Amino acid sequence: MSILVIAEIREGVLRPASYSAVAAGQSLASLTGLGMDILLLGKGAKVVAGASLGQGGTVYVSEAAAVAEYTAEAHAAAAAQLVQEKGYIHLLTPATTTGKDLMPRLAGLLDAGMVSDVTLFEKGDAGVVYTRPMYAGNADAKVVVDTAIQACTVRETAFDAAAPSAGSATELALNLDEASLKAKFVSFDLTQSGRPELTEAKIVVSAGRGVKDAEGIKLIEQLADTLGAALGASRAVVDEGLVPNDLQVGQTGKIVAPDLYLCCGLSGAIQHAAGIKDSKVIVAINKDEEAPIFEIADYGLVDDLFKAVPKLIEKIKAARA
Ligand SMILES: Cc1cc2nc3c(=O)[nH]c(=O)nc-3n(C[C@H](O)[C@H](O)[C@H](O)COP(=O)(O)OP(=O)(O)OC[C@H]3O[C@@H](n4cnc5c(N)ncnc54)[C@H](O)[C@@H]3O)c2cc1C
Repeated sequence: MSILVIAEIREGVLRPASYSAVAAGQSLASLTGLGMDILLLGKGAKVVAGASLGQGGTVYVSEAAAVAEYTAEAHAAAAAQLVQEKGYIHLLTPATTTGKDLMPRLAGLLDAGMVSDVTLFEKGDAGVVYTRPMYAGNADAKVVVDTAIQACTVRETAFDAAAPSAGSATELALNLDEASLKAKFVSFDLTQSGRPELTEAKIVVSAGRGVKDAEGIKLIEQLADTLGAALGASRAVVDEGLVPNDLQVGQTGKIVAPDLYLCCGLSGAIQHAAGIKDSKVIVAINKDEEAPIFEIADYGLVDDLFKAVPKLIEKIKAARA
């Protein structure tokens, strides 16, 4: 009867969102008085878990061929085996692309009720009360789960990352028949970019429809590179094919919480705002002083981005020289 946090590894590196999931697990542990274990599956799990995931009780790892690379089918089956063997009642993953892929399948295998994108755990009369944002972050739903096992994905930006801590890893003896798995890992083609990853960057520079075309995107990229920032975009820019959809920020894109979010030519529709609300400082450049982005921006510049951004780049370079 305890908590299992399923951490995430990619290409031998622990995904930073795992530390937020561990922090969420710790918060649930102190609320319920239950213990917390961690599971890490994949190539390199043993070394990474030993170096970084000493915050809980036991850290289970497996690098077996069936789970060496991520597929939802294999990882869910492996996690389900551990949950059934040890009797965990609360399961957590970060609400990353992988976590959102894995947890529904795992919950399905275990007949567990599931809550997505949890931002807070509280104690209620009927057990744990989960808070999750809805309507693009304009309302918080309070959810109670009445199944014996309760699964959730946790929003990275809502829990301050736990500090890495050295510990030891326990090998999980897997009962997985690799030949019976229907999904096979073929290859992992990561988009190559010299810029930081959107959800992990300290500074994000985003382009809205006001950038107009590929030339406009180049200008915003220049600004991002001058600041060492990740590049983001509104859905309008993604829909126009100006940037790939993994750069979309917002309700149906990525949720970001950088120290600085700087957006240019972006109106600030509620679906976009839902993805940037937790940013520490929001700066907007828009030629329309009535644009809704100015309602949530800490600093705003009413100007044509094609005039303002080159000047800004110049000033930043001069200040750094
Ligand atoms: C279910 C649903 C989910 C959605 N999910 C998302 C999501 O995840 N992310 C997202 O971004 N959107 C999302 N949207 C779309 C969202 O509603 C908006 O349509 C979109 O965010 C608008 O993008 P934009 O601000 O770039 O464009 P616009 O709203 O067209 O705004 C362009 C802005 O640029 C300014 N501008 C124009 N030219 C210049 C210039 N030269 N200099 C300075 N400023 C200039 C204009 O004043 C305007 O404010 C979703 C919509 C729905 C219905």
